Amino acid sequence: QPVVILCIGMAGSGKTTLMQRLNSYLHSKETPPYILNLDPAVSHMPYSANIDIRDTVDYKEVMKQYNLGPNGGILTALNLFTTKFDQVLSFVEKRAESVDYVLVDTPGQIEIFTWSASGAIITDAIASSIPTCVAYIIDTPRTTAPATFMSNMLYACSILYKTRLPFILVFNKTDVQPHDFALEWMTDFEAFQAALGTRGSGGGVVDAEGGYMDSLMGSMCLVLEEFYSNLNAVGVSAMTGEGMREFFAAVEKAREEYETEYKPELERLA
Ligand code: GDP
Ligand code: MG
Repeated sequence: QPVVILCIGMAGSGKTTLMQRLNSYLHSKETPPYILNLDPAVSHMPYSANIDIRDTVDYKEVMKQYNLGPNGGILTALNLFTTKFDQVLSFVEKRAESVDYVLVDTPGQIEIFTWSASGAIITDAIASSIPTCVAYIIDTPRTTAPATFMSNMLYACSILYKTRLPFILVFNKTDVQPHDFALEWMTDFEAFQAALGTRGSGGGVVDAEGGYMDSLMGSMCLVLEEFYSNLNAVGVSAMTGEGMREFFAAVEKAREEYETEYKPELERLA
């Protein structure tokens, strides 16, 4: 039984580069993956996909034809592709019998996939057919400021609650910035508060108590404790290949979680 890894993350977090790294790692283990590219606007793709949205729709043509800007073009291209997704899924299901991993790359701009009907339809269609997890890719060097870290975690949290799928936080670019600070903040609330205090991370919104934003974030951090406790977090470098074993160990856990938590829920709702 294969597992689908949905790569989701902010623009520039390294989704496409990580796809390439996972692909070459799996080839080296002699378990080549089946690959879907759902980004209509990727110009340079460092791996070759089995199914590529660009073979079906040309988002620049879509822009011209419907008189849209780039984001509208990408979203409309994804919508057009989604109308044929039952065919795509039957290809994936057929091949799923002979592969261990299915990798899915998503559009650069995260909200095009996570907050569109098409993204939800595609996610639900895959996840109701094949064990699926979300790999939420984080640009670690750009997440070292406590306020940025917090907002990125809240975004991840919203995707977790929206999809309800097993979830892996992937701290990417550890070659530039190790992710130990993030693990510390996720497990030690006081360490995070200390960081808030010393860095004056409140974005300049300060009250007499010494920081309205900081106290807001302190409260949100308590909310996130619950989120963190249910989460797998790994550090990787898509560039150097560091962390691949830990990543796939987290994927195995996610696969089990799909069987024990997601699937029974699906069956209950069916
Ligand atoms: P995407 O928009 O999420 O698909 O991001 P890309 O894969 O296109 O990567 C965005 C930028 O980050 C590119 O310049 C990559 O070379 C760079 N990048 C991706 N992964 C890593 C990494 O692990 N380490 C470093 N140093 N750079 C990375
Ligand atoms: Mg990309």
